[in-house]
Amino acid sequence: MIPDWAVEREQMVEKQLRRRDIRDERVLHAMREIPREQFVPPELRIFAYRDEPVHIGYGQTISQPYMTALMAQELALRGDETVLEVGSGCGYAAAVLGALAARVITIEIVPGLVELARANLRRTLRDANVVVVQGDGSMGYADAAPYDAISVAAGAPETPQSLLDQLADPGRLTIPVGDRENQELRVVWKEHGRIGYRVSTHCRFVPLRGGEGWN
Ligand code: SAH
Repeated sequence: MIPDWAVEREQMVEKQLRRRDIRDERVLHAMREIPREQFVPPELRIFAYRDEPVHIGYGQTISQPYMTALMAQELALRGDETVLEVGSGCGYAAAVLGALAARVITIEIVPGLVELARANLRRTLRDANVVVVQGDGSMGYADAAPYDAISVAAGAPETPQSLLDQLADPGRLTIPVGDRENQELRVVWKEHGRIGYRVSTHCRFVPLRGGEGWN
């Protein structure tokens, strides 16, 4: 039996997001609208609305819905921003960010995933303001900087300096920082030339490759 995806989405929003601490109505609305099942491999579609990451191939995963929502909420987007995402994966978070900001540039290091993200965004008609770039985003993407917001979807030992340099003032960035098993989701901000951060939650992401990463 094919699940009623709209019902699955509604339940995900209520149980996994609203009942926790996702309060930003624009984030909740975006995640109620975007067909997450269209971003996971067809054979894993039945797991699309589970409260956990799902494999998307190449050893990578689509993040747990709650983490995608939390990162988007922490960026406090209003609709007029240019956003950089590092780690497109299947393109789902980029679609969510695209619904919340004016423009999204998302960079992905695995060529097969670049193709997958582009195809998923095109099929779901979410590609109008989302551009998928192929490359190593551990040093950001200088060509389109500065960014009002940066969302890093892979864990790193520290916040790369180049990402801080490419952040607008004022600007916000979210990144999982720690070792391979344990990371904290940091919300970093730049204001009046100063950098500060706070820890949002404990998390575990796939590793950010290249740059000053773990490998
Ligand atoms: N944003 C995705 C999650 C992707 S998981 C979602 O919507 O759920 C993290 C992704 O980061 C993986 O696809 C991985 O290939 C990619 N990645 C890892 N290191 C990278 C780097 N240095 N530059 C760009 N992408 C990278």
